[in-house]
Amino acid sequence: MGVLTEGKALRWEETTAETRQYVKNHGVLQFISNYLKNKDRIDEKLIWGDEIEYIMVKVNKERKVAQLLLASDVLLKKLTEKEIQYEKGNLPDMKQPSGSWKPEYGKFMIESTPYRPYGSDIIDLLKVEDNMRNRRLEAREFLTDDVYLMCLSCYPMMGSLWSDFVTPTPEKKNLGPISNSYYISDEVINPHIRFGTLTYNIRIRRGSKVCILVPLYMDLKTNPLIGLAIQSVNLNALQNGSTIEYRKSEDNSDCPIENLKVTVVNQVHGKPLTVTIDDSHCNQSPTFCNQFIKNKQPSIYMDAMAFGMGCGCQQTTYQLKTITEARFLYDQLVAICPIFLSLTASTPILKSLLADTDARWNVVSASVDDRIPSEKSRILKSRYDSVSLFISNCVAAEKFSDIDIDVDQTTYDIVSNVGVDHQLARHIGHLFIRDPLVIFSDFEEVDDNSHTDHFENIQSTNWQTVRFKPPPNQNSEIGWRVEFRVMELQLSDFANAAFAIFSTLMVRAILAYRLNFYMPISKIDENLKIAHKRDSILNDKFNFVFDPTRPIEDENVDIHSVYRPMTINEVINGTDKNLTENNIQPFIGIANIIYKYLDEYGTSLSLEERKKLNTYIEFISLRASGKLQTPAHYIRTFVQSHPKYEFDSVVSEEIGFDLLEHLRSIQTEKIKPSELCI
Ligand code: ADP
Ligand code: MG
Ligand code: MG
Repeated sequence: MGVLTEGKALRWEETTAETRQYVKNHGVLQFISNYLKNKDRIDEKLIWGDEIEYIMVKVNKERKVAQLLLASDVLLKKLTEKEIQYEKGNLPDMKQPSGSWKPEYGKFMIESTPYRPYGSDIIDLLKVEDNMRNRRLEAREFLTDDVYLMCLSCYPMMGSLWSDFVTPTPEKKNLGPISNSYYISDEVINPHIRFGTLTYNIRIRRGSKVCILVPLYMDLKTNPLIGLAIQSVNLNALQNGSTIEYRKSEDNSDCPIENLKVTVVNQVHGKPLTVTIDDSHCNQSPTFCNQFIKNKQPSIYMDAMAFGMGCGCQQTTYQLKTITEARFLYDQLVAICPIFLSLTASTPILKSLLADTDARWNVVSASVDDRIPSEKSRILKSRYDSVSLFISNCVAAEKFSDIDIDVDQTTYDIVSNVGVDHQLARHIGHLFIRDPLVIFSDFEEVDDNSHTDHFENIQSTNWQTVRFKPPPNQNSEIGWRVEFRVMELQLSDFANAAFAIFSTLMVRAILAYRLNFYMPISKIDENLKIAHKRDSILNDKFNFVFDPTRPIEDENVDIHSVYRPMTINEVINGTDKNLTENNIQPFIGIANIIYKYLDEYGTSLSLEERKKLNTYIEFISLRASGKLQTPAHYIRTFVQSHPKYEFDSVVSEEIGFDLLEHLRSIQTEKIKPSELCI
């Protein structure tokens, strides 16, 4: 999750406008020094790697209970020690570890990357699946049999009111001083000071708890208020079915839960629950909240960063030859992100309730939204959101960036003055509209000409769908990189590997053929919203570029003439050839572009190797066509067909346990359901 610094992390109230401005000013200077040093560098090899996040789940089969195990700091220590011993040459077999391990937001999460990035040979792609499997086994060595290391975009029981979802049982279960959440103890947060401070500072900066609202899936017997329930402080005083008028406090003009009555929700699997309305989160952006609440859309309410940053994902990062190539790739991937969110969707359950959405992105976005109400008319998105601007130095990048963005003018001017062109200066100026959230007490000791800590402070807390990454510092061996950040986790190593491989081949094809996926950012944002919808992969259309061979240099193009609505199947597998007869230009499909690329550039592969690579591509093709299900669809169906499911959208402790056991058997390849696997 970006940089970690040692030292004392300052709480929001311990920083001043001057301290924050200091960090920003020096962050800009550090970017400039790094940019000037590295802008002409050439790194011949397309090095790349993936990042996969795991969660630790402890199960008690006799009691049929599964809980998040708050111990990833202990596991990380052991794995890091192994890396250190290897580097020192102390490992008995001198075998290079499979993974490199990093902390993540949750004390139940851990992240791994391949120990060394992969090289540029196509054949390297065939190492990915084994490497992912070996990484898991490497961590398993330190775990007992009752602890599962799972790839789940979201732990289904996270924040559940009807199960003790973490172990060891926290001393203080809720309303801790950091998140102040009704549902989640502060003890789930990684103990490294950065994570707690980040959480606390976001809440204090915005002046209220974060407010995450996701549409609730309405089944036959779903109580529309159940997603808003918080455990009652006074259960005894309320009888089942009784109501209390809710009075809206006066200063909260856009309170999302206006005029609702507080109602005792029916018993949920034997446990009475009370809906109590919290109005402390009323400064949600109208665009986000209104669609759910003004229309009285029944919602799942979540009030802590852990609901979002406790989600996992898969990312892939590519080092490019030059800064120009990196900026070009960034722009193309931005347009493709929504397609991959829909394709990989795996988040149908939130807070142990079935959601009416399939993907995590919006949850994470709202979970770290640090804006104060008065900023929302100027700053239109959360720090964690979709990309708002293409960054190549070309007319197309500027033209297709059709939404308003706020830019820090001082930053823009300073970087422009040293020769940074308009689009990149806007990008940096846009990053720097945000405040640094975690400042360490020794912040003034950083040398701007050899370090980038202050730049990274801002950069690493701008969590967008794609990230443009300069070299880590002025003297690094690592070059300009682009990180593709949108994919959700899959249930098996094969499936995760398939997406890493498919994206990498797509990246190579984009670079080799200079494919042009520029389309208006406003339409990409619409696509990202659609990608969250339940089964968007089957039911929805996405506006997508139909001729990626169109020259990027065509300056007269009408930006709304380059895309048309397509299904995910069409985007991946191509459109029906008969369209030509109706004068509609067919789209070849990304999978077919990849096959073409492999035919041309993969000639050194043996037949066997090519066949193996094809399997991964076929898997994505089948997913796109609907012949294989998304994890989201599969998980939802599992819950809805569970004998104990009461058609109320509730994932009870027992259903949750059975689900996790089932998903575990898929991960360990004990079972290969035909709906998911080839
Ligand atoms: P972050 O969490 O900031 O995204 P990580 O260090 O966790 O960064 O992951 C970096 C990813 O970038 C890894 O998957 C790694 O394999 C990949 N990568 C791509 N190019 C390089 C490079 N030149 N050097 C090191 N890692 C690279
Ligand atoms: Mg990482
Ligand atoms: Mg990353």
